[in-house]
Amino acid sequence: NNPRRTPLIAGNWKMNLDHLQAIAFVQKLAWSLKDARHDFTAVEVAVFPPFTDLRSVQTLVAADKLPLAFGAQDLSEHDSGAYTGEISGAFLAQLECQYVIIGHSERRTLHAETDEQVAAKVVAALRHNLVPIICVGETAADLELHGPSAVPVAQLRAALAGVTRAADIVVAYEPVWAIGSGQAATPEQAEQVAAALRAVLNETLGQDVADKTRILYGGSVKAVNIAGFMREPNVDGALVGGASLDIDEFSGIVRYQK
Ligand code: PGA
Repeated sequence: NNPRRTPLIAGNWKMNLDHLQAIAFVQKLAWSLKDARHDFTAVEVAVFPPFTDLRSVQTLVAADKLPLAFGAQDLSEHDSGAYTGEISGAFLAQLECQYVIIGHSERRTLHAETDEQVAAKVVAALRHNLVPIICVGETAADLELHGPSAVPVAQLRAALAGVTRAADIVVAYEPVWAIGSGQAATPEQAEQVAAALRAVLNETLGQDVADKTRILYGGSVKAVNIAGFMREPNVDGALVGGASLDIDEFSGIVRYQK
């Protein structure tokens, strides 16, 4: 992989683990990685708990100086106001979140999030110095109709519509058919789309941003299949759902050997 890109292993907890469970989990994860003498400068590790856990995770990470990054699973495109139930990027920044996941397929499908909303959320994240993890990916039907890269490429272009400067972003390629299905893409499939996404970054934000932006693969990543993805030149890490809720499995992913 390009030395300008530190691999990132991100655990998307989705709607799992309350704040008490989160405290226990993060402590155990930190111990597990410490026992294994994990080099956090070689592979960055981040967790994405539910909103209600973030304050607890922030306190624990700060008190114990844990080398873990964390972030939220979504944010509002607005900064404050009459938006019942929403959470602003300003609040997340106050909680020392470094990252925020945007446009996950579950939000696009279950909450009808559009490309325009995703683009507005990316702008909102950058406004608060949060690094957006922009999720893109095709359904099985898209794959059959349009081939592997067309939909993720179009989604990324749309998501970057409001980004004009050299932004610090992460892109996650998550084929919808691979999420939670136990049927991961092959490393070759992931690489093909990741290369197409990097070309979009190059074209829209320039070579420097394209070179330093991490592109993650997500969808049924496990300790047994992570190494294959990490061998690909354009795949710089993983966005992990189900397997991020199991300490052994997740630390196995973090400690992948190429
Ligand atoms: P999965 O989910 O690892 O359970 O397939 C990935 C994701 O939704 O980010």
